[in-house]
Amino acid sequence: MARKKIIAGNWKMNMTPSEAVELVNTLKPLVATDEADVVFCVPAIDIIPAMEAAKGTNIEIGAENMYFEEKGAFTGEISPNMLTDAGVKYVIIGHSERREYFAETDETVNKKVLKAFEHNLTPIICCGESLTQREQGITIDWIRQQIKIAFLNVTAAQAATAVVAYEPIWAIGTGKTATTEQAQEVCKAIRECIGEIYDEATAEAIRIQYGGSVNAATAPELFSQPDIDGGLVGGAALKPDFGKIVNYK
Ligand code: PEP
Repeated sequence: MARKKIIAGNWKMNMTPSEAVELVNTLKPLVATDEADVVFCVPAIDIIPAMEAAKGTNIEIGAENMYFEEKGAFTGEISPNMLTDAGVKYVIIGHSERREYFAETDETVNKKVLKAFEHNLTPIICCGESLTQREQGITIDWIRQQIKIAFLNVTAAQAATAVVAYEPIWAIGTGKTATTEQAQEVCKAIRECIGEIYDEATAEAIRIQYGGSVNAATAPELFSQPDIDGGLVGGAALKPDFGKIVNYK
């Protein structure tokens, strides 16, 4: 069965609650489609108002992060139950900005992935290499290691429902999109790695996004690649252009 595309916006630390409502209202007619799953991953404080504004549309509201404990003395963190109770189904895990600025590691990513599945949340699991790693020719090895650790103790049935976002760090927020060939090569390698960990059926089912300066001009070619099942979009997800990305065909 063909995989349904999934196009997710990562709003990062942008939009106050009232701005979030305005943005959802602006974008909702532009992203209306049955052909792809459309997810807006928004700051925690925007989840409830954005969810209200998106009611009755095809937009799913997701989270940008989550902690791996259930509850307790973890000041400033947000728990999986808080997300599910608010109606959230998707959560970004291990974005490179979380790894760089908030000391997340492959191990904490794995803990969060396991916790997300425990709560029936779909993780959008981020991986990606630095420019130095790409120049050293170790991109595929690095990504395979990130994937293997992220999926430790995850069952095949769970993995089949996961979303992986391949986001070369050098392409995030830089305006430098990976070439279609570079993006397809790594997304294919991720699928093969999932096939080695699990089986062919799981590899065929898992959805793999490309992220890194995707825009309305680059989306059509990127999203038409055999192993690229949509995108994780930062900057362009805050603009009407996101409608063109979602309706890239
Ligand atoms: C991202 O934040 O995941 C991202 C890909 O950002 P941008 O599209 O702005 O590069």
